[in-house]
Order: sequence, then C-alpha cells, then structure tokens
Amino acid sequence: MSDAVVSKFEHAFAEWLGVRHAFAFWKGRVAMYALLRALGISAGDEVILPGYTCVMDVNPIKYLGARPAYADIDPATYNAAPENVERAITPATKLIVAQHTYGYPCDMDALTDVARRHNLVLIEDCCLALGSTWRGKLCGTFGKAAYWSFQWNKPLTTGVGGMATTDDDALAGEIRKLRQAEMRPVGGKSAAVLACQRAVYRAAIWPRTTAVATRMFRWLTRKGLVIGSSSTSEFEPRMPEGFFRGMSAGQARAGLAQMRKIGRNIAHRREMRLIYDELLTAAGWPLPSLPDHVDPVLVRYPVRVADKQRAVAEAPGRGIELGTWFECPLHPIETPMELYDYHAGMCPVAERACREVVNLPTHGRAGRRTAGRSAAFVAGIGRAPEDR
Ligand SMILES: *Cc1c(COP(=O)(O)O)cnc(C)c1O
Repeated sequence: MSDAVVSKFEHAFAEWLGVRHAFAFWKGRVAMYALLRALGISAGDEVILPGYTCVMDVNPIKYLGARPAYADIDPATYNAAPENVERAITPATKLIVAQHTYGYPCDMDALTDVARRHNLVLIEDCCLALGSTWRGKLCGTFGKAAYWSFQWNKPLTTGVGGMATTDDDALAGEIRKLRQAEMRPVGGKSAAVLACQRAVYRAAIWPRTTAVATRMFRWLTRKGLVIGSSSTSEFEPRMPEGFFRGMSAGQARAGLAQMRKIGRNIAHRREMRLIYDELLTAAGWPLPSLPDHVDPVLVRYPVRVADKQRAVAEAPGRGIELGTWFECPLHPIETPMELYDYHAGMCPVAERACREVVNLPTHGRAGRRTAGRSAAFVAGIGRAPEDR
C-alpha cells in the first residue's frame, strides 16, 4: 500500500519537473547519497560544492570516503562562482554540485561548459530552488541529476523528505538497484512521530512564533525527542545507523497534497521576492544584479545587514521571522568544519556572507504585511557596507 502512494508522489513530481525519473527518500541528504552511490563516487574522488552550504550536503561525500572541495561564491547570488569551480578542479575531481542557493539559479551556461570541458558530471542541489528557472528552463533539468529536500523549511514540505530526479535511464537503473539492495523502510515509530510533528507544525508555526518554535525544535532535536532535520550523530562525517531509508506513506501523502498547490506556492514566492526587492531598494539596498534570463523563486529572501548578531538577537522580541542561513560555510554553526576539510579563509566571500546575511520569509503564511514589517526591521538594523 505505502509503495503505491510513494510512487504516485514520485510520478507527480517527475511530471511537474518534466523528467523521466524521480525517487523519494526519507530526507534530501539521503537522495544526495543515493545519487553519489549510483554515480559511482568512491574513496579518493573529489566533489566540488560551494563553500556556502549545509553540512548535510557534505556528509554523504564523506560517508563514501570522497573529499569535498569548496568553491567560493559570487557575492550577488551566493552560488559557487564558475571560475572558482574551475580552479578547484584536480585530477581526482569527479563531480560538480551546482547548489542553487536561496533559489537563485547558478550560472548553468558556465557550469555546464566547465563540466563538459573537464569531462565531469554535474548534478544540481535544488533543495532551495523549487520553480526557479534559467533561460526559461526549470532548475533541476540541467545536470545529469538533481536532488530536493522537503524538510520543514524548504519550499515544499513533507515534514522531512527528499527526492532524487534524473532523465538518465542508466542512472535511474542504478538507483533502482541500490534501493532494492540496501534501502530500509521508515520505521513505524519514526513515521508516527513525524505525522504528529506535521500536525503541530501546521497549527503552531506562524511568522510571529517561528523563532521560538525553531529554538524549541532544535533543543528537542538535540535531546533526540523529535525527528529534527539533524541529530547530533549527523555532525560527524560517519554514516549513522539506518541512514539509507525510503519515504513513508504519510510523507508521500503530504507531498501529494503539496503538489496540488505547487503553482500557487511558486507564484507567491515569486511575488514576495519582487515585493522585497522593491521595499529594500527603497530602504537603500542595492538591487541584486542578476541576468535578465533568470527567474528566481526564493525559499528565503537574503539581505546583508550591518549587524547580524544584533538583528538575530532583536528579531524574536519584535515578532520578526528572521533566518540565519548560512551561519558558517558549512551551516549550521555547530559543524566541526575541520572534520569536513574546511579551513578558515578558504572561501572569504562566503565567510563574509555568513557574517552579513540574514533572510526573510517568502512562504505562504507571509504576505505583503509581513514583508513590510520585515523590511522595516532590517532597515532599522542598516545595510552592510558595500566595499567589495
Ligand atoms: C536542506 C538542504 C539539504 C539537506 O536536505 P535534508 O532534507 O534536510 O536532508 C541539502 N542541501 C541544501 C542546500 C539544503 O538547503
């Protein structure tokens, strides 16, 4: 029974994206792991990704004994700058991960070209980029494959959840074999706890209460009492027990319900970006300089402030839903970065972004009023100096 609803979600998602294959997993990081395995990434291989990412993106690389190599970002889009990606290539490089940060599309012309010239595989991290387009084509349809996260904070949510997508029949065959051989079902207890959390989430998390809820959520997660996005065992570059798990029927049902609203979800986030562009430009921020042929759909609206610590400290008391992505090059701040081969100073543009950027909500519970209050709040903090 559960298999039927999961494959229904997979089909719906593949159809929306316009690709032949989609494979649902317990989390986005598990989808990434499945792709790395199916692509044959193994010990000694190098994988290039931006030095402005989530540790959960680096874990699957480390689990396989492969090495992450970090490319510094473009300060306008927060995406790995193609020239830095090219500079990070060594004879051991096998794979480039194009992470569409906040939903801003990577320069897919340049990255596709770099990958082709060096005979490397390119995949896309679409965890934050549902509906963004580059030259009118959806992010997730450029690389050999893509992966998606449906965690609480992501554009489409099933509580936790993830998907791997590809148009490549051979790669899809490898993923299918891997699932058959190694994937474990989600335990009944995990699925039940997650179902409760989905209900609490729907009822409780509104912009004014999110900061408190998030802190509570993180605390409970550390105590191992909820299915958070990350337990402490996931801050170690060693694969935790039972990591490679599929998606439960409850997650898939939530995903299918979200698929019915996907058009509205994307249109709303697109409109919210334009509203923030307008409000923040009026407050003195420079408009992000983007090429004409991109249409970003942002999961959160990033903005550089003069005093991030102060902004983060004051936001909850003012009822402002202020995000901290990314707190360090391998978000979150708890990440022991040396264990992930990141050394301070490796990606100075990203490190500066970590010190300056906070982000504002674009989700369905936030509208023009929230945008106005949020923009006024960051205007009160002031903008980061522009001396690049
Ligand atoms: C959320 C996220 C992930 C991991 O997704 P999970 O579903 O939490 O495993 C990976 N990469 C990026 C950029 C993300 O934002």
